[in-house]
Amino acid sequence: MAGKGSKKKELLNSLISTTKLLNYPKIKELTSEYASHFVKEITKSELQKVREAILDTIDDNLDNIDISPERLAVLVDIRVRAEYRPSVRPAINAAGIILHTALGRAPLADEAQEEIANAIKNYCTLAIDVPTGKRGDRYNHVEDLLIYLTGAEAACVVNNNAGAVLLVLNTLAEGKEVIISRGQLVEIGGAFRIPDVMRRSGAMMIEIGTTNRTHLYDYEDAVTEETSMIQHVHHSNYRITGFTGEVPIEELKPLCVKHDIPLVEDIGSGCLIDLTQFGLPYEPLVQDSIKAGADVITFSGDKMLGGPQSGIIVGKKKYIDLIKKNPLCRAMRNDKLTYAALEATLKLYLDRATLMEKLPIFRYLSLTKETLRKRAQSFVRKARDAAGKEFEFSIIDSESQMGSGSLPAKFIPTTAVTVRNSNMSPDEIGKKLRLSDPPVFARIENDRVVLDFRTVSPKEIPELISVLSQFY
Ligand SMILES: *Cc1c(COP(=O)(O)O)cnc(C)c1O
Repeated sequence: MAGKGSKKKELLNSLISTTKLLNYPKIKELTSEYASHFVKEITKSELQKVREAILDTIDDNLDNIDISPERLAVLVDIRVRAEYRPSVRPAINAAGIILHTALGRAPLADEAQEEIANAIKNYCTLAIDVPTGKRGDRYNHVEDLLIYLTGAEAACVVNNNAGAVLLVLNTLAEGKEVIISRGQLVEIGGAFRIPDVMRRSGAMMIEIGTTNRTHLYDYEDAVTEETSMIQHVHHSNYRITGFTGEVPIEELKPLCVKHDIPLVEDIGSGCLIDLTQFGLPYEPLVQDSIKAGADVITFSGDKMLGGPQSGIIVGKKKYIDLIKKNPLCRAMRNDKLTYAALEATLKLYLDRATLMEKLPIFRYLSLTKETLRKRAQSFVRKARDAAGKEFEFSIIDSESQMGSGSLPAKFIPTTAVTVRNSNMSPDEIGKKLRLSDPPVFARIENDRVVLDFRTVSPKEIPELISVLSQFY
């Protein structure tokens, strides 16, 4: 026993000291490239890990522990570089989900990226009235554009649509009743549930109708002295089919006028152009809802609008003014980056002729199966040359998705590439793709890894090839 115990001791004693390891050429190089204090901390921590590994290992396996300075230097090098790598970094979306919430939803147009870069060079005109030099209002940057594009009287922008819904309810209905159809008590993306948001806003929810059908008389019967508003929600991420019925905005309008209560709609995606031109189902347009009589409409800036994360509120000036005065609005305000990007994105809508090409989500959406087939073929040719023999690529017909609960029942025909590898399972390939640099996110379909080029920009193709050529 004593002899074996001393083997551990021997190994621990022969471990290089922190000072010596720091003088090792590879580590010295790191010290010149990164903060030396940080490199020292990581070096200490890696040596401590090896010490613990030695103590935790049974004597018979001690020979497997490599304590050579070369090996330790490599561990320190990998760790320092990994810690410095940005945590939010570019990724390749080969999953074909256009609005992929986990990958940042709508990719921004070049114009929006440029305006962000301009706004953050030093100071900017975020909330100042330029001619007078007095404190101004940050909503002004986009209010006129939103009014022009939607036909509303006024507009205001907050952090995201979840915040917008909460803010509107809190402003117009705190301590009062809100009527809502049971068919519209939806959950979006797990954390956003209409009944929960309603409760937190301080409004009292009056549920009417049934899951599949709600009639105008249900609304009529529910209106009382305590009614503050009617909330309509576009159930973006699911469809009720069969024996169903909802009351559209235009039919609710006369009831709201009669009782002088606002008609509020959470339209979700906030589409400003007709998607039927892409062969997609009609997604409600903000301007149509205004025309139909909605008094306040909330929607996301980073779904079908294609801009930065934000929640947009448009509608009657008297309600928007109240909303802007709510202290919660201040708590949900956006920063200069968002305003710069949102303004640039909205300006793209002024020219419908170039919008399709300039806004990435529409560019991706309008790619045809034939164009994607050509891209897939060219990719396969290059990938076969670059990747190892164990790889097999084939071209298949598949389906892309809009994502983020938009157009839930609609798949978009695409041409994609399957990747197989004789040494790896599809899950292993998927994991290796995610762990590569840049990380690549594919989808797994029928137990195959599928790369969908609809959401991959042509500039990213060489990177994708290079990722595959580095598989071992
Ligand atoms: C997506 C969505 C939301 C939440 O919007 P975020 O911008 O993600 O906060 C709320 N309501 C509806 C109907 C939605 O589709």
